Amino acid sequence: MAELFYDNDADISLIQGRKVAVLGYGSQGHAHALSLRDSGVDVRVGLHEGSKSRVKAEEQGLRVVTPAEAAAEADVIMVLVPDPIQAKVYEESVKGNLKDGDALFFGHGFNIRFDFIQPPAGVDVCMVAPKGPGHLVRRQFEEGRGVPCIAAVEQDATGNGFPLALSYAKAIGGTRAGVIKTTFTEETETDLFGEQAVLCGGTAALVKAGFETLTEAGYQPEIAYFECLHELKLIVDLMYEGGLDKMRWSISETAEWGDYVTGPRIITDQTKAEMKKVLAEIQDGTFAREWIAEYNAGLPRYNEYKKSDSESLLETTGKELRKLMSWVDDEA
Ligand code: NDP
Ligand code: MG
Ligand code: MG
Repeated sequence: MAELFYDNDADISLIQGRKVAVLGYGSQGHAHALSLRDSGVDVRVGLHEGSKSRVKAEEQGLRVVTPAEAAAEADVIMVLVPDPIQAKVYEESVKGNLKDGDALFFGHGFNIRFDFIQPPAGVDVCMVAPKGPGHLVRRQFEEGRGVPCIAAVEQDATGNGFPLALSYAKAIGGTRAGVIKTTFTEETETDLFGEQAVLCGGTAALVKAGFETLTEAGYQPEIAYFECLHELKLIVDLMYEGGLDKMRWSISETAEWGDYVTGPRIITDQTKAEMKKVLAEIQDGTFAREWIAEYNAGLPRYNEYKKSDSESLLETTGKELRKLMSWVDDEA
């Protein structure tokens, strides 16, 4: 079973005694920087020239400097810029400003797990990753609660890496909910697998195939949209609240019977065999290498996929239908 840590297991004075740089002020960056500040931590935000987030950070009363200045001033550096540019930001702004005893923090293990960033031996390398989007992390903190986090230490130069990670997690509200100990390897591989096979890739492909099956059989796209995409939220909310049991308690017996007999005809042994291949390509670094190559080439295939899906009947139908739903916020 997982090891869990709460407020009483964490000493907030450790992080209060350090100088923290938060690089990036997006979803996670703003939540971490503001909550660290409110927890009495000495924090500065590192942002590049021309950053759109700069005004927001300054309006919230935070001091904004360049990533290099932030890294030079601080002895704990949390890297919360997008994953594909972290290696560049590290090379240009962080590497030359690391001293023995400093700690390099991440919110996701990608660049460490796949060796795009190789920190020097004298530096602690830690992860604190909230299991929720940054805006929820901040809102929960302000309400006196917290979002569960996972924490890991890849390199424990000082021997004090994990207590420091727990202290950081406490300052952003994580230990109020609970912190689970993991490793950079486990976090990175499971995160990539989950988003590809189930949460994003698997779900999007399932929705598209279902919608296409119905519309190709001559049913109205609007009806197919409701059945294959819109109602997914109701089902997922039930699973989120009470697992498969609560979902099955709420749906009709007919739907439940269809769930048992048809589900395994859709997600078959062949699908699971493919999942195992996907996992193997994550573990051996193939996915990471290909993704960074695509990113560095200017995202040609990524943009093609994006365009083709946004012009699909599924998406154009949804765009029109959502105008009928006053309660749905269609802003990206
Ligand atoms: P976002 O894309 O929301 O924000 C990125 C931030 O980095 C922006 O403020 C952006 O500024 C800034 N930025 C871009 N380039 C640079 C640069 N060269 N130097 C300094 N700052 C720069 O990122 P996320 O918060 O989504 O992700 C950050 C990390 O957190 C990632 O490792 C991610 O995997 C992890 N994570 C994210 C979660 C989430 O909920 N989104 C959940 C858990 C982990 P601007 O836009 O103003 O140019
Ligand atoms: Mg992810
Ligand atoms: Mg129905």
